[in-house]
Amino acid sequence: MPAKKGRGGARAKLRAYILAHIGKTMSSDELREVAGISEWARRIRELRNEEGYNILTHNDRSELKPGEYLLEDPKPQPAFERSISKELRALVLDRNGFTCQMCGAVAGEPHPYEPNRKARLHLGHIVDKSQGGEDTAANLRALCSVCNEGASNLTLDRPSISKLLIQVRRAKREDQLEVLKWLEKKYQSSE
Ligand SMILES: [Zn+2]
Repeated sequence: MPAKKGRGGARAKLRAYILAHIGKTMSSDELREVAGISEWARRIRELRNEEGYNILTHNDRSELKPGEYLLEDPKPQPAFERSISKELRALVLDRNGFTCQMCGAVAGEPHPYEPNRKARLHLGHIVDKSQGGEDTAANLRALCSVCNEGASNLTLDRPSISKLLIQVRRAKREDQLEVLKWLEKKYQSSE
């Protein structure tokens, strides 16, 4: 059993290495060497589960091969999100159509306001925890990193139905069909 100090050291080395390789695919050989311990994979899990770094594997991304790791967002998830079960997270994201409820960004697609950044979704509270909001499906919604950081200047106001319809009517036919497809997909499972 290695000393506690040594374990922390390996985790710190891995954290520093991963943060220096944002957006780059890392291999398990690479990470093992950086950590210098055989139990490096457990340290990676701790960085994910305890510190909230969203380190992706082939389980999260089809383009990753087994043994490959990727961190795209240097910001750890907030503590509350880490305590939310995978099932609840999946339920909320599915209900929200994997779409940011403020700006409409779709998970994994280029962000509408930062096109060189792929939209990543987080969970946000509808009623803030400080106002008594709870970590329940009814009080959670999908928000992209941009809106979650408050970086977006969009307001919480939703477009009015008349403005929305005007925009849809003016849109190109293929874009209208895209809207139709999205609505059908969103509502076929929940009705
Ligand atoms: Zn957003």
